[in-house]
Amino acid sequence: MSVELIVDPGHGGKDPGGGSNQYWKEKDMVLDISLYQYNRFKELGVPVALTRDKDVYVSPEQRTKIVRDSGAKHCISNHINAGGGDGAETIHSIYSEGHLAKALAEAIFKAGQNIRRVFTRSLPYDSRKDYYFMHRDTGKVNTVIVEYGFADSKKDDIEQLKLDWKKYAEAVVEGYCKQTGRTYSPPRSDEEVAQFNPSSATVKTETKELLSKLHKVGILSDDWSAKIDELSDSDVIGLLVTAINRKKLLP
Ligand SMILES: [Zn+2]
Repeated sequence: MSVELIVDPGHGGKDPGGGSNQYWKEKDMVLDISLYQYNRFKELGVPVALTRDKDVYVSPEQRTKIVRDSGAKHCISNHINAGGGDGAETIHSIYSEGHLAKALAEAIFKAGQNIRRVFTRSLPYDSRKDYYFMHRDTGKVNTVIVEYGFADSKKDDIEQLKLDWKKYAEAVVEGYCKQTGRTYSPPRSDEEVAQFNPSSATVKTETKELLSKLHKVGILSDDWSAKIDELSDSDVIGLLVTAINRKKLLP
């Protein structure tokens, strides 16, 4: 099975990523962004794959091998930045002219985020090699690293990412389609974007904590949080309905 594009949610598992803060972990936010994009690309008929679809650790060696072996022409590696700046950045390989990186940055800008820079970086001791392993070790795949904003921004990135990450994720989908000649159509409605609710790590972590609490205080007799991976969305809704009824939380 060969794809055209592979979307890479950075970090995962024991590696939360540096672009984390009190509101989110980088690994969760980039997984949400990537799952959103994966679904949208599928909807738009772009053959697409992911390097991970859940909260698991993927080493740089495994990650770059997945990308190389995917058969993809392009890779979008999603990250959240740290270091006190503000705005989005896209990074391309020293061996790429950066057309896709520029197109993605432009699209994110149109969606309302400021762009800090589009750049490329080589190893300090070997200018023929890319600094980032996602460029250096992904072979012929044209990889663009997208940093959507800063987790420790003193300006407005934190609010922007909390409220508008889906807008920026969508912008990258649009920018990719336009740059590669794919037909783009927006999501059916803003509501569809608003309602998109991936079975993401963030949602799962919160549900898990809630189920564990409900068990600890005795509202649910079983600790379902341990079996979260086996529960469907409707199972979870069922458990919450049971909890509400048992506790007579509603009149
Ligand atoms: Zn990162």
